Amino acid sequence: MTNVAITTLLNQTDSDIAAYLEACVHCGECAEACQFYESTRDPKYTPTFKLAPLVKAYKRHKAPLRGIKKIFGLVPDEVTEDELREWEPLIYDSCTMCGRCTLVCPMGIDIAGTIRKVREGYAAADIVPDGLKQARVNVEKTSSPMGVTPKALLAQIKHQEEDTGLKIPVDVQGADYLALFSSHEIMASPEIIGAYARIFAKAGLSWTISTEAYEATNVGVQIGSGPLAAKLVQRVVDEAERLGVKYVISPECGHAYGAIRWAGPNLIGRTFDFEVLHIIELLDRLRRDGLIPAGKKDERRLTLHDPCQIVRRGGLLKEPRRLMDDACSNFVEMPGAGIANLCCGGGGGVSANQRAEELRTKAFGVKLDQIEKLGGVDAVVIPCANCRGVFEDGLFDLDRELEVIGLGELVAETLADDPPKAAE
Ligand code: SF4
Ligand code: SF4
Repeated sequence: MTNVAITTLLNQTDSDIAAYLEACVHCGECAEACQFYESTRDPKYTPTFKLAPLVKAYKRHKAPLRGIKKIFGLVPDEVTEDELREWEPLIYDSCTMCGRCTLVCPMGIDIAGTIRKVREGYAAADIVPDGLKQARVNVEKTSSPMGVTPKALLAQIKHQEEDTGLKIPVDVQGADYLALFSSHEIMASPEIIGAYARIFAKAGLSWTISTEAYEATNVGVQIGSGPLAAKLVQRVVDEAERLGVKYVISPECGHAYGAIRWAGPNLIGRTFDFEVLHIIELLDRLRRDGLIPAGKKDERRLTLHDPCQIVRRGGLLKEPRRLMDDACSNFVEMPGAGIANLCCGGGGGVSANQRAEELRTKAFGVKLDQIEKLGGVDAVVIPCANCRGVFEDGLFDLDRELEVIGLGELVAETLADDPPKAAE
């Protein structure tokens, strides 16, 4: 087990990672950026400390001059299984792969990306938290980390058809757009499916949901298993290409977007025959093209949370803001909004890891402080279903009241007119 982990860690240590490990000047800037450190002030949550097993294996097996250093006893011992297990909670519970540390590092070290590589070693040795292990089992059976089956999806679609009065297209060959969802959306916020139906009917879009590839989340990316991540991307690619769609819509889910749009082609080793769009990107395009004009604005005082993988690491900074400006008359930015915004505390698989709940709530407390500095808002708009779940849990645990809504829902609620009803 230890050998598998170390071999995988060393295989992951390519020239980029080696350069990162050599470049660190131990300035500590990354610690101040990490909300697990900020909320606890415990030095073990320093981002670079989380990399210790990788650093140790690298210094022993790959670093320059290790042969000479060995003669003088300057090379560390082999990483032990006890050390790997001791670090496992640091790797999985105290890193959301938010990339805030990467943003501030003066040496340009991608710490979040390096922690992702460390997870590869842990996943290969099966030293992972129980919550993620269960998600992996569910994914192998159903493609969904929550075990959502096509039957459950179809039941939710039927309810949304009844609520909206619109026919929701399923398994339509030759549609232009294939919409993906996260399990959390399908089961906990199915009204987002109805929101898509209303918006796309208004825009006259040709779209479909597939019963073969409906799940956007990628447990392989969260757990750190490249082969599993590739398998999940391939499932979507195969179905999108079988249906002949021009676009795949990544839903309001942070890591799902990065998994298919940025990591996807590298994971499966080729480009796609279709374009991947985040739903927020698509809504912004439709609005700019005049296809979904905004109607009466929401007049409440609303703020916007920037999901790390969509904004800091995904680049969608202006799109949600343009949609907010169109949809509400009293939009206020929280301090530090934009690419430096704080994480919800539950990304990168932390929300699926029950063991991390107490630490996650502490990290969420820092996020909540950011919102409370605004001196009172009526709701926070969050374009990520995982972040919404973390907010809801954190607000409950910290005994606070605050409405949490999706951006797609807000857009659907503020469309200019009711969309035409589909023929029965
Ligand atoms: S900010 Fe960069 S250089 Fe400074 S300690 Fe962190 S990783 Fe090292
Ligand atoms: S990626 Fe985010 S959570 Fe992970 S160590 Fe860096 S700042 Fe902390």
